[in-house]
Amino acid sequence: MRIAVISDIHGNLNALERVIERIHTDRADGIVCLGDVVGYGPFPNECVDIVRDSCPIVVRGNHDAGAIGLIPSTEFNTEGRAAIEWTQLQITSRSREFLQKLPTTFVSNGVTYAHASPKEPGWWHYVATWEDALEVFEHFNTPFCCIGHTHIPAIVAENGMLNLYQNGQRHLINAGSVGQPRDGNPHASYASVDTDRGIVRIIRVAYDVGSTANAIRHAGLPEFLARRLEHGI
Ligand code: ZN
Repeated sequence: MRIAVISDIHGNLNALERVIERIHTDRADGIVCLGDVVGYGPFPNECVDIVRDSCPIVVRGNHDAGAIGLIPSTEFNTEGRAAIEWTQLQITSRSREFLQKLPTTFVSNGVTYAHASPKEPGWWHYVATWEDALEVFEHFNTPFCCIGHTHIPAIVAENGMLNLYQNGQRHLINAGSVGQPRDGNPHASYASVDTDRGIVRIIRVAYDVGSTANAIRHAGLPEFLARRLEHGI
């Protein structure tokens, strides 16, 4: 089974549409969304609609929780907070209902899914270092675990080596971010996980960054949120 794993869309409709098109072209067997569908970007409800229709499995991210008041906006940095408060005013009752019902983790077909980490998923731990990643392996039992949250794609093998899906070697995969990549590459990022053959790929998709940046400005969201997209930071 080949699963397309998308994460951290952040209301970037343009990027999400291009990624979904690419996933359909690649004929993936299913799409899983790791949350942060909303927050930062100008099209929260449109992105929720697409995720609801396209992804049988969705877990909730911290921005999704902030947008519906499950965590206070003061938990976010200045731009994040401004965007969360803007999103709270935009979110429809239909989107709210959808985000409210989401689980924080999900296990299916040999893959554990969480937004930030399967370790205390409601605390949104950042998995940013090798030590962080090693600790995460203690918190799932499946061959694969997929996370997002840092907006930086990565594939980590439990023994620290690349390309060794053998002898029960397990992998932690960060799908990167569809709507706000932060690894210096502005192209949208998602992961393709072939659970039968043990092949994991990070796929990058070009989209019209300028048009999303303009929509952010037009919505009155902080200028930094537009500029960061153009640089992938
Ligand atoms: Zn995010």
